[in-house]
Amino acid sequence: MGKMTEEQRQQRARARARSAALEAEEDDRRREEKDEEWEREGTYLSREEFEAGHPCRGCGEPILDGRGNRPPLLRMTPEEQAEHDAEEARYKERHGECRAVRWTMSGSRTQHCGHCCPPPPMSEKQREVIAELLSHKTDKRELDDWDLTLTCDHTVRKTQHRDHQRYSTSVVRCPACGQRRGVVEAVHIGPTEDPEGEVQRERLANELRKAQTKLDRQRKATAKTEQQVDELARKLGGTESHSNS
Ligand SMILES: [Zn+2]
Ligand SMILES: [Zn+2]
Ligand SMILES: [Zn+2]
Repeated sequence: MGKMTEEQRQQRARARARSAALEAEEDDRRREEKDEEWEREGTYLSREEFEAGHPCRGCGEPILDGRGNRPPLLRMTPEEQAEHDAEEARYKERHGECRAVRWTMSGSRTQHCGHCCPPPPMSEKQREVIAELLSHKTDKRELDDWDLTLTCDHTVRKTQHRDHQRYSTSVVRCPACGQRRGVVEAVHIGPTEDPEGEVQRERLANELRKAQTKLDRQRKATAKTEQQVDELARKLGGTESHSNS
């Protein structure tokens, strides 16, 4: 195959981004349909059922199996290894096509499938923690704007906390279509609110600090190499005067 032109390369990258976004959108739709199905058919366990040791209504396997956490892979005895391999094969047979993460309860070994098995009900404590997290309003000055191009070719502006280097959500609701759509491209715009140019200054100061550290490192490396050169030259001088005497 001949060399690709820059344009062809970009075209391919766009096509790849697009198909990844369509796949994320499809997975998201599958997930939503599953949620509705579980809701409709009463597949979710209540907290009481869960605590009483009810098996999973998605796959029929126990959730709390009382077998303890799985030993680390590298420290398994041959019997544990054989048991693990057998379970792995059985899991792959049942959920190999599900394209979903697995989950296991702490203290149990039975693995459940993110596609077939509804997540276990939360404890009171977990509910409290999540409510607490949701109640924290993010300061607008900590947000960045992003422009997202979606699979429907609409563009939406979203905000995200500045800690993220890349846009972290792969599917968002498109207000124009009223549908959830995959994100094909995310372009970082800048601070959502920066009236004094504070964020911009801080960003520049940060880059300057990094560049200075790099320069220091390079200077040190140069000094070290110079020292080596001097030393080698001296040694060479020494052997020469030896052979001459
Ligand atoms: Zn299950
Ligand atoms: Zn499955
Ligand atoms: Zn749209």
